[in-house]
Amino acid sequence: MTVQSTPTAFADRHIGARRQADVDTMLKAIGYDSVDGLVDVAVPDSIRQDTALKLQDALTEVQVLAELRKLASKNKTAVQMIGQGYYDTVTPPVIRRNILEAPAWYTAYTPYQPEISQGRLEALLNFQTMVQDLTGLPVANASLLDEATAVAEAVLLMRRANKNKTAKDGKTVLDTDLLPQTIAIVKGRAEALGFEVEVADLSAGLPDGDINGVVLQQPGASGRVFDHSGVISDAKERGALVTVAADLLALTLITPPGEQGADIAVGTAQRFGVPLFFGGPHAAYMAVREGMERTLPGRIVGVSKDNAGVPAYRLALQTREQHIRREKATSNICTAQALLAIVASMYAVYHGPEGLKAIAETVHGHARTLATALQKAGRELVSDSFFDTLTVRVPGKAEKVIAAAEARGINLRIIDADTVGVSVDETTTPEVLSSVAVAFGAGPVGDASGFELPADVVRTSDFLQHPVFNTHRSETQLLRYIRKLSDRDLALDRTMIPLGSCTMKLNATAEMEAISWPEFASIHPFAPDHQTAGWRELIEDLEADLTEITGYDQVSIQPNAGSQGELAGLLAIRGYHLSNGDEQRNVCLIPASAHGTNAASAVLAGMKVVVVATASDGTIDHDDLKAKIEANKDALSCIMITYPSTHGVYDADVREVCDAVHEAGGQVYVDGANLNALVGLAQPGKFGGDVSHLNLHKTFCIPHGGGGPGVGPVAAKAHLAPFMPGDANSDSSEGGVAISASRFGSAGVLPISWAYVKLMGGQGLTEATKSALLAANYVASRLDEHFPILYTGEGGLVAHECILDLRELTARTGVTAEDVAKRLIDFGFHAPTLAFPVAGTLMVEPTESEDLAEIDRFIEAMITIRAEIEQVATGDFTVEKSPLRNAPHTAAAVVNSAWDRDYPREQAAFPVHHLKQDKYFPPVGRIDGAAGDRNLVCSCPPLTDFEN
Ligand SMILES: *Cc1c(COP(=O)(O)O)cnc(C)c1O
Repeated sequence: MTVQSTPTAFADRHIGARRQADVDTMLKAIGYDSVDGLVDVAVPDSIRQDTALKLQDALTEVQVLAELRKLASKNKTAVQMIGQGYYDTVTPPVIRRNILEAPAWYTAYTPYQPEISQGRLEALLNFQTMVQDLTGLPVANASLLDEATAVAEAVLLMRRANKNKTAKDGKTVLDTDLLPQTIAIVKGRAEALGFEVEVADLSAGLPDGDINGVVLQQPGASGRVFDHSGVISDAKERGALVTVAADLLALTLITPPGEQGADIAVGTAQRFGVPLFFGGPHAAYMAVREGMERTLPGRIVGVSKDNAGVPAYRLALQTREQHIRREKATSNICTAQALLAIVASMYAVYHGPEGLKAIAETVHGHARTLATALQKAGRELVSDSFFDTLTVRVPGKAEKVIAAAEARGINLRIIDADTVGVSVDETTTPEVLSSVAVAFGAGPVGDASGFELPADVVRTSDFLQHPVFNTHRSETQLLRYIRKLSDRDLALDRTMIPLGSCTMKLNATAEMEAISWPEFASIHPFAPDHQTAGWRELIEDLEADLTEITGYDQVSIQPNAGSQGELAGLLAIRGYHLSNGDEQRNVCLIPASAHGTNAASAVLAGMKVVVVATASDGTIDHDDLKAKIEANKDALSCIMITYPSTHGVYDADVREVCDAVHEAGGQVYVDGANLNALVGLAQPGKFGGDVSHLNLHKTFCIPHGGGGPGVGPVAAKAHLAPFMPGDANSDSSEGGVAISASRFGSAGVLPISWAYVKLMGGQGLTEATKSALLAANYVASRLDEHFPILYTGEGGLVAHECILDLRELTARTGVTAEDVAKRLIDFGFHAPTLAFPVAGTLMVEPTESEDLAEIDRFIEAMITIRAEIEQVATGDFTVEKSPLRNAPHTAAAVVNSAWDRDYPREQAAFPVHHLKQDKYFPPVGRIDGAAGDRNLVCSCPPLTDFEN
């Protein structure tokens, strides 16, 4: 590698093993002289790109921040009163700095290893409890991707759960007063799955015919607050289920959906302290009535016990997680919006029930004040009953009112030529209200009179009575609570997280800085284009860079997770076949080793999944592929392959696989989650792919956030371009099915990936890929003699990750891969990926960002653990009494005068010497998963449960 080292070259900081001596050590262990030599053998010639990436030269951190400032200055901030699902809010600074901008929170992984995730699990349980209390429903999940897709999930849930003989196959009815983006998203999903959707004004009663489910919105898109109880009971009588999309802040004042008989409540938690972010990322929520919890999509945090009987949090129903159900999946959600859910939950902890209610009352009061002034001036309101949003009739003058408001620095919502919407929020001041009134041609506002909420919708029940929402009132206390929770967890700021397939690499501070600048964070997704030039320039630039990197013709960054990129790509394929008159092409071939989201996404795209077998060397079984293509010849829609495969190797014959599918008239979907093994070396758009998704939260440095946010851009060849995601908010027929509520999905985190590409440049990115290969092969070569590497490719090399096979050891000693994963916690490590894609294995992905010392610390831990397994084999202790099965060890377990284990305390806590200085003790021991599922507790338990 030729390294243009200057003191400020960012690549030198992003890439961990940068010193030549370290590189040489690693090469020597693998048996190569040069990194390029290694790469030339590992990466098949048949896929190698022959030209360097044509990207702008690398910039320094100072330069990138200056460029970002320039882009930011091209956006125009305004008082955002457009509403329509997005409201300005105040992120309490203590939450912004100590969660949103704190690596201990944003660099954490999804809490699949609960013993090292108790802090974020508690914060997510607070989120669930908050949603349950506010919606009046007993079970909530810990976040979905956005409000519109949450409604789509609710519609699908109703279609599964409704068992009424006549109603179950009926249509889905959406109220006309749903948000327009919600209606567009639901229609798009329904079209692929082939069920009927009718949009009707439900204030006039239910339409005729069989109805599977009904969706209402409270308050409606028009702002109207309306007593749903009549429609809900009519729907129930007809055997329909009911979903209400509800505003959490409004629910502090309005009767919650659960109390009105709704089966499901959904919505967004955005206005609980999460910036507008030009449309996302925001946490959506879903809550259901009793009896529906086992079909709820997304993740649920539950309470179980550890091996000492101490209450402990974990993800409940974990083995039922959607993406493990594959083609039986009912939702494809994997990465959700954990970080944003945590921010929203802390907003509730910060304000408490009285604080939230006071904010809601102020908002409602401001809206009433404005309504009073407008009415006095003769303006007509569409509804006299509202919470925060007024819809005002201004015949022929909507444009004029909008312009007058904009001249005063205020954005209002244009509904049509005669109608304007105004949404009040937490940040609205009396001065702003007067400016709005003046823009409508009314006088400045005075006092409110009338417009009280109708008595039949006023909330009378309590909410947020749990102590967690009532004790952290001082900033001192809240700061310590936040710190206490993050101290319980292991994130990237403390240890390498060698999770195969997840690419937990550096999330550099310079990349993160811009996301909370107001010129990016405070922009409403429906702000007029002339106010968002900077945003659109950044997005176009990033899309162009990703196009160059992937070798495709077009990229859309709209999908807000990998799973959503998959759905977008498959729907593009579907659209393409339909446009060719190939309606019968609906079979999607998926290798047995695929990530579970692939099959789930195919099902959601209305496709039939046919599994292709894996050969003994881990590659696709060509005979089976041929047979499956032959058997489904006319019906073949596509194949979904992951490259390099989930087995962590570059299949040399990927082109043949692609050719075989193309010859049969099918399309090739390349799952790009493993792009960290390709950037600069090979382009899926050039070696056979028609469409791919990427995971910017893997390869392109968006932090994982403890389970989201994510961005899953879809990249496609020109023939699929007309079917790329359309805009859920535009009437234009341009593009295909909309995938996310807002045009640019999780726009708010895109400056991170933009900055990463600019900081690295084409050469830096390519060197990162090579370093990722070097690191993975170093781990594989050092660990192979202790834990055999399951699959290797050319020259016995792996790609960017490797699978350690423990099955023989397990058969011989009883020690499982899970035991090893838990024992690693005692060494201060987050476990590698457990049991995916092969049961009984661990998949290790070190990434390019780890330096040799950290990788060696991991190798040392693994070798030490291997010796302990040998102690089981030789009978020093049984597996049940081994430090492996009893891992992880809490401080309480070790410092216990009743120590009666067959191994010394020192071995339990300090299996390697340097842990004596830097020791992480997990707050709980091994958690009993099954117990938590048998007895599902998914709201905050009484604190006395934790007094131990
Ligand atoms: C992570 C991953 C996905 C899913 O991405 P999400 O953003 O979690 O939805 C799909 N395929 C593979 C191979 C992955 O590793």
